[in-house]
Amino acid sequence: MNRIFDEEKGGRVLAFGAHPDDLEVGAGGLLARLAREGAMVTMVVVSVPNQPDLRRAEAEAAARLIGARLVILEDRPCRVEDLPMHELVRRFDHMVGDCRPDLVITHSAHDLHWDHGLVNRATVSALRRSPCDLLAFLSSPEMNAQSRSIGQCFADISTTIDTKIAAISAHASQVPKLDLESSRDLARAMGRISGYAYAEAYEVLRVRI
Ligand SMILES: [Zn+2]
Repeated sequence: MNRIFDEEKGGRVLAFGAHPDDLEVGAGGLLARLAREGAMVTMVVVSVPNQPDLRRAEAEAAARLIGARLVILEDRPCRVEDLPMHELVRRFDHMVGDCRPDLVITHSAHDLHWDHGLVNRATVSALRRSPCDLLAFLSSPEMNAQSRSIGQCFADISTTIDTKIAAISAHASQVPKLDLESSRDLARAMGRISGYAYAEAYEVLRVRI
């Protein structure tokens, strides 16, 4: 039983990540949990910076493990900042219109990676007319150790921590850069704060109660 959706309805979740693997690292546990609980989960990857075929295949494998549908917004290799903000917001508007989400998950404005911050701005802008809950995550906690935010809301991911780690591992080309052990350690530490075995921390940008 989750407190986000009515169990009968299942709920629709739309998650925006700047690059392949950001969502898995930042929100993979909660996305997997919501999918298991019956939500329709859509993971949107905004840009693929390099090796498009390989990175797409890895992202698809990770989304399958999570139980989500994957959308890659920009096919040609690029950075998020290569897309003008008005174009980014227009594409996010389309995603929001198609999905009609109950919950949106996006990057934190406190994320020190420039592309991640742009995705936060575009998400907030695209939700200007949509009533839905909005949570934000820090995708690379160890790189964001200087950020001011660790979140105010903790999601119990005790049942999906292994799925989260498997989904991160699906990005095999990135595994040398991704510290799987620190992802598990961080979830354990967030769990110690919140009273769960494993947890993910989120900033609450909008919640309807
Ligand atoms: Zn990223």
